[in-house]
Amino acid sequence: MERIYIGMGSNLADPAEQLRSAIEALGQLSQTSLAGVSAFYQSDSLLPGQPRYTNAVAALDSSLAPLELLDALQAIENDQGRERLERWGPRTLDLDILLFGDRLIDEPRLKVPHYQIQERAFVLYPLAELAPQGLRLPDGRTLPDLLAACPFVGLERLPTD
Ligand code: ATP
Ligand code: CA
Ligand code: CA
Repeated sequence: MERIYIGMGSNLADPAEQLRSAIEALGQLSQTSLAGVSAFYQSDSLLPGQPRYTNAVAALDSSLAPLELLDALQAIENDQGRERLERWGPRTLDLDILLFGDRLIDEPRLKVPHYQIQERAFVLYPLAELAPQGLRLPDGRTLPDLLAACPFVGLERLPTD
């Protein structure tokens, strides 16, 4: 079993509902249990002129291999109507593997930790709700270091219910 953190985002077709469906699907993956979900956040899109995103982070405990998990995440995206048009285009659902235990993965289809984890407030702040204090990335950087260098800008934490 390894602890895995998944970044989720949606900016089409009722984003909060997309995230709720995705969380349910994550909870049903084989060899995997859902260990936690952050609050939902709204963030500005990376490209101008798109609707704002709803984002969250989920924690999984899984014995799936990394590429098996990636396949499963892409199947969930496809089930929820993800169309791959332009890079960073609007999407019903995006599921990114942020961290996979303490592994460093550098394969054509999968780079872990996610290459922009340190630049994305909409990933770091929800991750901080779930991760243990002092979580260390494989390269030694800690989550508090990353948070300190990434201001809480363009982000809004939504009330939980
Ligand atoms: P970004 O990667 O900048 O967040 P994106 O999420 O919009 O952009 P996608 O179109 O969803 O990018 O994914 C493109 C490819 O990225 C996927 O087909 C997948 O093979 C690859 N990829 C590499 N590393 C990861 C990762 N850690 N998690 C998910 N996909 C990854
Ligand atoms: Ca992404
Ligand atoms: Ca993605």
